Amino acid sequence: MIPIILGGEKVVTQAKITVMDPGKGKPLNEVSVAGREETRHAIELADQAFDHFSRLALKERTKILERAAEIMEKRSEELARTLTAESGKPIRDARVEVTRAIHLFRSAAQEVRLVLEGATFRVDGYEYPPGNERRMVMSVREPLGVVGAILPFNFPANSFAHKVAPNLAVGNTVVVKPSTSTPITGVLLGEILYEAGLPKGVLSVLPGGGDTVGAEIVENRRVKGITFTGSTPVGTSIASKAVTTGKRVMMEMGGSDPIVVFKDADLERAVSISVRARFEYAGQNCNAGKRILVQEEIYEKFLKEYVNRVKSLRVGDPMDESTEMGPVISASVVKDLENAVLDSETKGGVIHRGMAGTGGYYFAPTVVENANLDMVIMKREIFGPVAPIAKFSDWKEAVELANSTEYGLQASIFTSDLKLALKMSREIRAGAVIVNDSTRLRWDSLPFGGVGLSGIGSREGVRSTMLAMTEEKLISLDLS
Ligand code: NAD
Repeated sequence: MIPIILGGEKVVTQAKITVMDPGKGKPLNEVSVAGREETRHAIELADQAFDHFSRLALKERTKILERAAEIMEKRSEELARTLTAESGKPIRDARVEVTRAIHLFRSAAQEVRLVLEGATFRVDGYEYPPGNERRMVMSVREPLGVVGAILPFNFPANSFAHKVAPNLAVGNTVVVKPSTSTPITGVLLGEILYEAGLPKGVLSVLPGGGDTVGAEIVENRRVKGITFTGSTPVGTSIASKAVTTGKRVMMEMGGSDPIVVFKDADLERAVSISVRARFEYAGQNCNAGKRILVQEEIYEKFLKEYVNRVKSLRVGDPMDESTEMGPVISASVVKDLENAVLDSETKGGVIHRGMAGTGGYYFAPTVVENANLDMVIMKREIFGPVAPIAKFSDWKEAVELANSTEYGLQASIFTSDLKLALKMSREIRAGAVIVNDSTRLRWDSLPFGGVGLSGIGSREGVRSTMLAMTEEKLISLDLS
């Protein structure tokens, strides 16, 4: 049985969950789960460890992160296979995710020196407050303390790395709650960090429920910051509770990213990129291109090529090297997707389906022609392989459609007109607008996140997380 990691100890608990293999629809492994009590204990250990850990010389902390990256590299195939088995993510994509996680640990080790640099201010340039002539004012950055990290199911390695590496680098201690669907990768990563020399108590990895482990992290006053990635309803409810106990919050939530294709776009490129943007990991990416908006002059041609490409997607066993699309995470998601497609059909959508997988939680890649704003798939985030394709006449209508949800994570525009691309980039409400490329682009060191119901608080990214999870303190000294 897989243990929890409680302040560095592997603990097998009485309570357990069965983690499923979505590719087979069968049990994969039994995993120990923490409850409120273990979570309180982990937070206490992290709080006690903070004093020593935050005072360690920076080079000591960065050495641990670099060593962890080396061990992860050595064990990368095992990590990727574990990730695929519990998440159903095709093995080729799982390897990319593990590589990104390794890179994140290295970047955190490299970038922390710069981010923690403070400043001195020329206060002798100000009239007020009086007495500035000989006063020296400087700023330093200090870690917050215990940080709670709540992870989604879809990026068990990358999300772990984004939340753990920058926080450890700045001297915070961390209690991680992975998703109950994909907790095993997180437990392995926790083991690796202790093998790399992390002092006891600094990190716990606690598989467990949102209403137990999650709720304790959110409510506990010793936790000073929360970094959450997951759905919008869960994120907004956590944020409202977390701020009442004075916590810093970084909430990375859902999205319904538009891909806007103008008549002068490179059609072949727009089709192949937007198919991959929607169907990679069976549509279960926050920044998947979830709504495809196409100018009317090229709508029929685009649709035909898009549907052809979707029908040729190789769907099946995620462990198979040639698989392009695997299963979704659970049987209940398959049901939700069926309902969403049925809703589109009754509201005038024409449905095109690709290859169906067998044995596990498969949902055939699906295209909805004639998508319109009455459909659920054009309003809510659909976390699965369903692509609505809607028509627009001019750029104004494209902006209206693009901005017609409450989300605002990323967006893509395909056009050969640079001025139009820039105009659209300014008009679309999103954390990032990508010209002639995928909504899926993310540079792990740069700020990433959304506006509206896609994000609350700071952006995520190596530097952004370090800035968000430290306090800037001013120190003033009168030298006269
Ligand atoms: P989810 O909201 O169901 O769960 C996320 C985490 O929150 C899980 O660990 C869950 O156990 C926990 N949780 C649930 N209820 C809780 C509570 N009351 N208190 C504390 N914790 C609680 O999300 P999911 O299905 O695992 O992930 C998919 C979602 O994540 C999608 O909406 C996707 O868009 C989003 N996502 C966003 C980003 C981003 O960077 N913006 C990245 C990846 C995924």
